[in-house]
Amino acid sequence: MRVGVIGGGQLARMMYPAAIALGVELRVFAESEGSSAVAATTKVGDYTDLSQVASFASGLDVITFDHEHVPQQVLLGLVEAGVRVHPGPNALAHAQNKLVMRKRLAELGLPQPQWKEVQTPGELEEFLTPRGEVVVKTPIGGYDGKGVRVVKSAAEVADWFDRLPDLGGALLAEEKVEFKRELAQLVARRPSGQIASWPTVQTIQSGGVCSEVIAPAPNLDAGPALEIGKAVAEGLGVTGVLAVEMFEDQGGKLLVNELAMRPHNSGHFSIEAAVTSQFEQHLRAVLDLPLGSTELRAPAAVMVNLLGVDDDNDFLGNYQTAMAEFPEAKFHTYGKTARKGRKMGHITLLGEDADQLLERGRAARSALYGEASLD
Ligand code: ADP
Repeated sequence: MRVGVIGGGQLARMMYPAAIALGVELRVFAESEGSSAVAATTKVGDYTDLSQVASFASGLDVITFDHEHVPQQVLLGLVEAGVRVHPGPNALAHAQNKLVMRKRLAELGLPQPQWKEVQTPGELEEFLTPRGEVVVKTPIGGYDGKGVRVVKSAAEVADWFDRLPDLGGALLAEEKVEFKRELAQLVARRPSGQIASWPTVQTIQSGGVCSEVIAPAPNLDAGPALEIGKAVAEGLGVTGVLAVEMFEDQGGKLLVNELAMRPHNSGHFSIEAAVTSQFEQHLRAVLDLPLGSTELRAPAAVMVNLLGVDDDNDFLGNYQTAMAEFPEAKFHTYGKTARKGRKMGHITLLGEDADQLLERGRAARSALYGEASLD
């Protein structure tokens, strides 16, 4: 069994141990030599070039992804050439373009924030007037909060209106949800239809970037999130792992924020805390193998992200101190060059009480940060 992953980030890197255990040969098509997942089986190339990607795919059973940026014409070209691509281009379109996603979720009748497609400052002002403050997003190319702005006037996104053709031809305006908390539902689906869902988790963001994850989400009626996850996976024909990010509003209603069709930061807890990790499940799903159990191995788990504090500190200076002080913590570092705000690694803890685990996880992160701080 041979799986090709386009993209050499930490998600591809974390597929390796699962692939080795399953006896799957993993090959990575990375964007540069310095990528997180670079290893002997890696090819370096341009994922926007069909001929390079097609030659990488030859001899492999399936192509999958570590990110959602492979252009549609490359995806469609691969499919036309007979390459198995999971998730497929039609499903991926919803994770590549937030307007495409909003329209499809509306057709499926799934709950989401009020939204509007806007092409001019005037259209945005119309959406703003009754609300005072709204969230504006670039439909394509945003990640970790980089294509998201909370605005009180259309002038605050004038630069985006100037670059509209590069951003998808329109902007997405959304009501600003005064949410109680953010949740994520991780689901895996095989091409032949089998679905498996992990327990819903709570995600805590800082500055638009995931900072911590609590599994399972405390005090949550699990049913609705599981149903939404399943409905999205089936309605959009997703194959592989799908993450559905959601808001829980003040009344307890769930609203879909966005989708990722690959292993996701909100699922890193599953490496140690679930019988089947999201990385193993993704490989099983894209190969159309029977899915593994998604049961948790402990009553609670917490994942704490290690975000870059500056361009020097890769946390390795304090690694031994933190390891010695927190022997129960599972440390993951991604081998990436330090940069402020960059996802450099994460820590997972398993136990009985989510609050205590969160406190311990944050303390372990502080031990790694040392003098540095994220401000
Ligand atoms: P990205 O694609 O960069 O991850 P998201 O659409 O997930 O962007 O938005 C990043 C964060 O911004 C969310 O996790 C949430 O905290 C906040 N956010 C996004 N949309 C809204 C909204 N409609 N109302 C309130 N907060 C929002």
